[in-house]
Amino acid sequence: MQKSFALILAILVSSTAWSQQKGASMPTATRMSSAAFSVMQGINPERIRAHTRFLSHDLLEGRGAGQRGGDVAAEYIATQFATYGLKPAGDKGSYMQRVPMVGITTLPETRFAFSGPRDDARDLKYLDEYVAYDQTQQASSDISADIVFVGYGIEAPEYNWDDYKGADVKGKVLLMLVSEPTSDDPKFFKGRALTYYGRWTYKYEEAARKGAVGAILIHKTDMASYGWDVVRNSNSGEKSYLELDGTPKLKAAAWIQLGVAADLVKKSGLDLSKLMADALSRDFKPVPLQTKLSAHIVSKVRPFAANNVIALLPGSDAKRKDEAVMYSAHYDHLGIRPDMPGDNIYNGADDNATGCAVLLEIAHAFSQAAQKPARSILFASVTAEEQGLLGSEYLGKHPPIPAGKITLGLNFDDLPPLGSPEEVEVSGAERTTFFSIVQSVAKEFRLEIRPDARPEAGHFYRSDHFSFARVGIPSFSVNEGMKFKGHDEAWGLAQAAEFTDKHYHQPSDEYHPEMDFTADAAIARFGFALGWEAASLPKLIGWEKGDEFEKARLSGN
Ligand SMILES: [Zn+2]
Repeated sequence: MQKSFALILAILVSSTAWSQQKGASMPTATRMSSAAFSVMQGINPERIRAHTRFLSHDLLEGRGAGQRGGDVAAEYIATQFATYGLKPAGDKGSYMQRVPMVGITTLPETRFAFSGPRDDARDLKYLDEYVAYDQTQQASSDISADIVFVGYGIEAPEYNWDDYKGADVKGKVLLMLVSEPTSDDPKFFKGRALTYYGRWTYKYEEAARKGAVGAILIHKTDMASYGWDVVRNSNSGEKSYLELDGTPKLKAAAWIQLGVAADLVKKSGLDLSKLMADALSRDFKPVPLQTKLSAHIVSKVRPFAANNVIALLPGSDAKRKDEAVMYSAHYDHLGIRPDMPGDNIYNGADDNATGCAVLLEIAHAFSQAAQKPARSILFASVTAEEQGLLGSEYLGKHPPIPAGKITLGLNFDDLPPLGSPEEVEVSGAERTTFFSIVQSVAKEFRLEIRPDARPEAGHFYRSDHFSFARVGIPSFSVNEGMKFKGHDEAWGLAQAAEFTDKHYHQPSDEYHPEMDFTADAAIARFGFALGWEAASLPKLIGWEKGDEFEKARLSGN
């Protein structure tokens, strides 16, 4: 590895091809200075190992958000930033940005019932037939409201699609389908790929924005791409939310089983499969049902807080230093479960001590450079990713530099220490104006770009870069692919499958001395080069025309 990397560096330093290879339509990047190359070369797999080992040690108790171990991890990361001489960019001159959150548990006293015009009420069984959370964060809420079927519950002007058609749904409960209208046309909801409109989070947000008091998603296994047991498991017990900030919320954010939905619709003398077929048309209009939801939702509300850890390296250009590149990696994991017998510490070595270690090593490299890039660099290690990207959502809403001035976000999450990578994954990069530079940098590093194998699964919406994309920042995660030196692709796929089966989100995601951090160092160098380029480009990076995040970017927040 060392040998081939030296070779790559030699090519990088000596070749003028670096800037010439970029697409003609792209602004030409500044070539990296030799000072930048030498600090990039200094990125060290053994330091990445040391950070990973410490952050995933049992003493850190699984780095739970709002738990002692999580706070120790945050202090460790802040201390590293301080030793690198980076400026604090959190609250009140510190590295810490406090993220206020609440944990909500729906209690068994909760009642959920449907009644038709003939007053034939049906009480639903919690967890077996429905799940619901009160997003308004009250100890108890009551709902008595008419139900309206709104198809997919999507309003997407860029695809000329509007399920609401201007209907007034204030105070109503909205019944809707999961996912999005299917098609193979890439111009229509990106063909097979899932857009954000297909995610359940969007559907609740849109319903709340329109003034609905509740939204009920109909679970159908093939449409959701997961079974009811997944809905049930991820909707029982405590769920965390950001503290209320004025954003509209639902008293009932719910799911119901398909059969229950069919029964509910039948009470209004209608047929669910007919409604579902109608919903596939652009001409679909909301259908008011003659069925009401009567609900009494009782919740345990537990306020807590954890910190994002943020540092800044000021840029060297008088004008562009107000703009920044942002690196991120979540430091939280699932914490400790004292009531569980045996090993009850979720160490999260891969997920995401490795990403934090890469972030720290990139920060270290930037701080060592004799000459700094034109734009500033932000380093953000965020909390509560495992609770639903909450730390990054808060940071996106409260960035130390306005989102409109952050040219690029690069996120690192779960970088397996498997040796020397021959591929990178940068899914989402192709949607930004930075992609041709990503391609040429990958080429210089002799890394093949591996396309997203299952765009229909919507992975782009499940990691922290998505929180930054939502506020318009061109952002994506950088990771290894499946091909490693000395192995075939099948080996890489087998490693990934084994991790998912045996260790992902389990106490066995632990550090082992035989881990090979060459991979993490290679990704760190690649990420460093991308960030340096982005920090030096004459213009800010944007989303490609027509992208779902373009609007947020152009709004100039
Ligand atoms: Zn993760």
